[in-house]
Amino acid sequence: MAPASKSPAPNAPSRNPRVVVIGAGMSGILSAIKLQQAGFDQFVVYEKANRLGGTWRENTYAGIACDVPSHFYSYSFALNPEWTQRFSPGQEIQSYFEEIAQRFGVDARIEYGKQVKSCVFREDRWRIEIDDGSKDEADFIIAATGVLHHPSIPDFPGRDSFAGPAFHSARWDPNVSLADKRVGIIGTGSSAIQMVSALADKVPALTLFQRTPQWVAPAENPPYTEEEKAHFRANPEAMETIREEFARTMTDAFANVLVDADSPMLKLIHDNCVANLENSVTDPELREKLRPDYRAACKRLIMSPNFYEAIQHPNAQLVTEGIEGIEPGGVQTIDGRLHELDVLIFATGFQVDSFVRPMEVRGRTGTLLDAVWKDGPSAYMAISVPDFPNFFLLNGPNSPVGNFSLIDVAERQFDYVMQLLEMVRSGQCTGLSASGQAMDEFDRLRKKAARNTIWNSGCKSWYLDGDGLPTAWPWTYDKFREEMSNPRLEDYEIH
Ligand code: NAP
Repeated sequence: MAPASKSPAPNAPSRNPRVVVIGAGMSGILSAIKLQQAGFDQFVVYEKANRLGGTWRENTYAGIACDVPSHFYSYSFALNPEWTQRFSPGQEIQSYFEEIAQRFGVDARIEYGKQVKSCVFREDRWRIEIDDGSKDEADFIIAATGVLHHPSIPDFPGRDSFAGPAFHSARWDPNVSLADKRVGIIGTGSSAIQMVSALADKVPALTLFQRTPQWVAPAENPPYTEEEKAHFRANPEAMETIREEFARTMTDAFANVLVDADSPMLKLIHDNCVANLENSVTDPELREKLRPDYRAACKRLIMSPNFYEAIQHPNAQLVTEGIEGIEPGGVQTIDGRLHELDVLIFATGFQVDSFVRPMEVRGRTGTLLDAVWKDGPSAYMAISVPDFPNFFLLNGPNSPVGNFSLIDVAERQFDYVMQLLEMVRSGQCTGLSASGQAMDEFDRLRKKAARNTIWNSGCKSWYLDGDGLPTAWPWTYDKFREEMSNPRLEDYEIH
């Protein structure tokens, strides 16, 4: 092992490393484009499905949209003048990724229907096995496998006895027409709220089963006019300006303040949500049922232009009594009432600590990543795991999350990873992974900082680990940008 004083400045390439990217979602497509642009010509993207798009391919539920402004939820190098709304619908986002992959020529690099079963580091290379029995080798693995992709459906008594169609929000069944159905939705996360907003006036009866109320921030969603789109087409710099404005506002007024629970800005956000509730919900009983007893942004904040309007629709009903069980005819609550339904939708979230799992990943000591992560996943700077050389995660554990552009996050992470790849390509070393000491110190500081965040202020959410501590990047987004721009090589074992 060499002393860690090397510079990541790329020299003339002396090696031509092979890179395997796992996953053709937003961050996998990004990786492919960036690798291609940097002149890496030996890379492949393995995708388990038969289509790219990741979360936007998987989630097609009624009302799906991204609650991050579209001009910010775009690749910085591929701004899109055609966004139809401030918060564009999911199908449009899916089409954007398909178009970009084609435009940059990386769709040809994606091998579909290839689920990576295992990655084992042996004799200085990654040995990869695919579920169809094929094998590959690589110098680098980029795990672009996404965050929330394994649906979680609670084991309600009688769960499978429901007589009508029942499915998870991420397994939306387009063949089920809801127009004449009594629809039940369990959950009040971002997915459920978008569904309720879209369906309340489209179905004869909509029942929302709420365990915990949510704070809802008002978020107007104006369409872009034809004139605005023409202006963006003719003046790409206007899109850059609008992107920068959204980025700056979401950083200064949101991402940076979440990590300081005492921040005055968080008080403003809270007051704004309280005013939204007070001003929007007229029935005092319903208003109290919808009022959370924790602070705004403790859970991921709901951004919605019309949820309160939707839940007050005459066809909509909010049920706050706990769920006793599921019966063929509907959902039984603990007050003994059966809520009769024709269709049941579980908007009950995801198994949030899966990341690359169930893929089997074995590092240079032979240890399984699963074993390293037995108490919960973590990664140094959210990128690297000790003893897993040249294995890098995008949007992995400890990444920034929460009402922000994960595209911006992934782009910055990839720029960081690229600096490490260049060290190998230029012959400065053969591989790198975070040192155990750096990982321990990162975790220690991360956990300490996590205590001060709003996510730790007294609510339950998928942001928390088994010990109830937030796992996300607990420092400001500005610090994230700074860390990603310049890897601390002294924290790496360099081979
Ligand atoms: P989620 O935020 O994890 O919400 C799951 C919901 O199911 C919660 O309301 C939870 O209640 C409820 N639930 C779980 N188990 C239950 C049980 N046994 N009984 C009753 N209720 C139960 O899931 P999600 O809405 O799918 O969203 C997940 C994440 O996806 C979001 O946080 C966000 O990061 C992302 N997302 C983003 C967008 C976007 O526009 N960018 C849209 C949708 C989703 P409790 O609150 O009581 O636990």
